[in-house]
Amino acid sequence: MKCNRCGHEIPESDTYTHLGETLCEDCYLDIRLGVKACDPWAVYSATRYRESSQLKGTEGLTELQKAIYEFVKSKGKVTREEVMENLSLSEQEMQIQLAILRHCELVKGHKEDGKVYLIPFS
Ligand SMILES: [Zn+2]
Repeated sequence: MKCNRCGHEIPESDTYTHLGETLCEDCYLDIRLGVKACDPWAVYSATRYRESSQLKGTEGLTELQKAIYEFVKSKGKVTREEVMENLSLSEQEMQIQLAILRHCELVKGHKEDGKVYLIPFS
């Protein structure tokens, strides 16, 4: 089986179905977290800037992105609603910031008991 989004080869037992698409776990969790439904340009420019400046970890992040990352790291596991409430973010702000953190490999999705959480990437 191949993931319809990223094209990665996935064992049949590890596939997820979302709106008729066959997805790997990473892509499925990204969708559940709303990572893909964001402003692609904001993500592109943020990740390109980091790459070209060879930034690592939280270097080059905005204060808001750092705050989200620190919050996830300190809790170990949070829902996106908890982040939004704690940092007073709107749904749209959350989507954009989360997408950047996800693409910078700082925060990722994690599924537990049917709920999707945010956890530190490594
Ligand atoms: Zn995938």
